[in-house]
Amino acid sequence: MTSANRIKQDADYIFHELTRSICPECKAVIDAQVIIRDNKVYMRKRCPEHGWFEAIISSDAEMYVGSIRFNKPGTIPLDFSTEVVQGCPLDCGLCPEHKQHICLALIEVNTACNLDCPVCFADAGAGYSLTLEQVEFMLDRFVEIEGDPEVIQFSGGEPTIHPQLPEMIQAAKDRGIRQVMINTNGVRLARDDRFLAQMAALDPVVYFQFDGLREETYLTIRGAPLLDTKMRALDRLAEAGMTAVLVAAIERDVNTDEVGDIVEFGLKHPAVRGVVFQPVTHVGRHIEFDPMTRVTIPDIIHGIVDQTDGRFVLEDFVPVPCCFPTCQVNSYLFVDGDTVTPLPRLLDIDQYLDYITNRALPEPPNAADIQTALEGLWSASAVAGTEQTAGQFECACGPGLDLPYEVNHLKEHVFQIAIKDFLDAWTFNVKQVMKCCVGILTPDGRAIPFCSYNSVGYREEIREQLTLEQGRQKIQAISRDREDQA
Ligand code: SF4
Ligand code: SF4
Ligand code: SF4
Repeated sequence: MTSANRIKQDADYIFHELTRSICPECKAVIDAQVIIRDNKVYMRKRCPEHGWFEAIISSDAEMYVGSIRFNKPGTIPLDFSTEVVQGCPLDCGLCPEHKQHICLALIEVNTACNLDCPVCFADAGAGYSLTLEQVEFMLDRFVEIEGDPEVIQFSGGEPTIHPQLPEMIQAAKDRGIRQVMINTNGVRLARDDRFLAQMAALDPVVYFQFDGLREETYLTIRGAPLLDTKMRALDRLAEAGMTAVLVAAIERDVNTDEVGDIVEFGLKHPAVRGVVFQPVTHVGRHIEFDPMTRVTIPDIIHGIVDQTDGRFVLEDFVPVPCCFPTCQVNSYLFVDGDTVTPLPRLLDIDQYLDYITNRALPEPPNAADIQTALEGLWSASAVAGTEQTAGQFECACGPGLDLPYEVNHLKEHVFQIAIKDFLDAWTFNVKQVMKCCVGILTPDGRAIPFCSYNSVGYREEIREQLTLEQGRQKIQAISRDREDQA
């Protein structure tokens, strides 16, 4: 056949952009194409060694492309911890090429856990347990990097089984860090009165693992029947006057149909001031999955809209501009009895948070204050159930809406919904991690963007190093004891 007889074919996709990612097999940094097919967005990439990989990154291309407008100029941290040597993501961090400061820092105080979940991005188990001195050094470094740090979250493993967690929380408070959180499975809170009383006295916000209201969900994701324990822990938090944010890991064919019920449950429970949905990140331990059908942010938004009997519309969910806007969406609700009013119905948030196509702020004289308040709410540093968030909510509503509560009571009526799609080796996008605002603090003084830490190999490297160090120290201590006894 001559070329004159051949008919050119259109590709079945739109080439959206080129970025960099990593190979899911060997973690080598490789080019990646972002393509749009059938109104869905995919990442397609080729490792010279391991061949082609493709994964869905958004099930709604219109939402994905539209979110790009919500991209705010980053704020540069006061100090960096590494140099630019190999290029992103191999220089974490933060290196001077990073585009955003750390809004929310995590310290993983241990690797051990009192559960053994089949889904655990941290791959909890044997490893290390940080000392109070190490944590104090990391907190000091956080203050150096940030000046006025916003949020610290103690995580693990399971931080509540670390014997010095109360002292660590106090150390964070002593350094003036505005919000202190603990990230927990709730088991110890459900069972240990003394520990609960200690936590109530320190009053951190509890980032509470809560994947659904069906026992089968816990059996699949957590490997144990935990529903009663979760309910008991939440009721005890309410009795102790503490605040919780439900954190739900969502996996295809496990609990995608529970997102509406989780929101409804959270709205009614007296301890709960917000829900964070996280599509399961396929790093560490996870159950079998298909990268082409993994859960993405639009799946959860559509799920909430479809499963809550008309309470929400798609427009109630707005991308977060402080990180890369495809990473996270938020919504805020004013809750008064059975009346639930999403903040995006009260003002046109696009007008304030669209930094690309709409740069003229609206007319009201307090427009700049409203924008600042919205930037605070649409940030990884916004913690549900705090006076700061309630104050920002009140300011965003402006004088046009007279909220019937003082800020210290308003915080009980402001409810946050956040959806975060953490990156794994299938979906890793250098463009997103370069503007990441969530950092894992390490004992060597670094702050490593969360998705780099989990996907690129930093987690494994640091865990091995800390575990070895602790092993050596234990052996030295035993030798010293023996010498003393001899
Ligand atoms: S993610 Fe940020 S800190 Fe890490 S290498 Fe890239 S630019 Fe540097
Ligand atoms: S997911 Fe959390 S609770 Fe489960 S094993 Fe990992 S650290 Fe423990
Ligand atoms: S943690 Fe991951 S998903 Fe969140 S802002 Fe950073 S890069 Fe984006």
